[in-house]
Amino acid sequence: MGTLTGRTALVTGGSRGIGRGIAERLAREGALVAVHYGSNREAAEKTVAAIGEAGGRAFAIGAQLGVPGDADALWTAFDAALAARGAPGGLDILVNNAGINAHGRIHEVTEADYDRVFAVNVKAPFFVIRQGLDRLRDGGRIINISSGVTRIAFPAIAAYAMTKGAVDTLTLTLAKDLGPRGITVNSVSPGIVETDINPWLADPDAHAQAAAYSAFGRVGEAADIADVVAFVASDDARWITGQAIDATGGSLLGP
Ligand code: NAP
Repeated sequence: MGTLTGRTALVTGGSRGIGRGIAERLAREGALVAVHYGSNREAAEKTVAAIGEAGGRAFAIGAQLGVPGDADALWTAFDAALAARGAPGGLDILVNNAGINAHGRIHEVTEADYDRVFAVNVKAPFFVIRQGLDRLRDGGRIINISSGVTRIAFPAIAAYAMTKGAVDTLTLTLAKDLGPRGITVNSVSPGIVETDINPWLADPDAHAQAAAYSAFGRVGEAADIADVVAFVASDDARWITGQAIDATGGSLLGP
């Protein structure tokens, strides 16, 4: 028996990167996992297959986020996929992980880039939660993937950093609102993690600099974040809510 046996989880952006790590880890704990993707269905199917090979249970659902009607599309696909499996409706764990970056210092950010990063990183999770609240069972978990850039200033990603500040405020606000239902709401804030969102890590000098940010002297891996999310999703984390949990590997703690 895993810590999440009998639970159903949805991981947005569960097809690749950090989300894939989270989907795999929650499935390893026994959860039935909905692996969401935006456009890359093949990646989602690979993740579902890997979970199945490891003895877990998962299925893929696609829905583009950051566009009108995104939350409706996601939940319609989720409901249909559960019904098709003959599984009970609803869920216990919602992980809002899907996100995009937006490069640029303030004078470099275009209005279109600003709108896009807020649509995907802020508006989408807000409405995914809003439409999901009647599906999320009492005692459940909402886990929002934020970023260490809410603590550490990175002017080169000004608009992106703001989106994660909004996510943390959403976490705090909802934690108060949903406490009476026994639902915890927390953010998990990664530092730099080796995923497709960071193609610049391919440069050895940039990689070494990123590694040096962490107290442990290495770049993060998806599993480093997934393990924290699995804890927050578990019963052991029942007394933690409204928090932004730093999972940056001790990035830039001091001189
Ligand atoms: P990633 O490797 O680029 O994966 C992004 C995932 O989100 C994919 O599954 C992708 O699916 C999905 N996605 C992206 N845009 C979408 C959209 N418009 N609609 C639907 N799905 C969409 O990114 P990652 O590095 O794992 O990042 C995951 C989360 O961690 C993000 O919220 C990010 O801000 C946060 N984070 C990452 C780092 C880091 O260094 N990697 C650090 C701090 C925080 P498709 O491929 O199908 O579009």
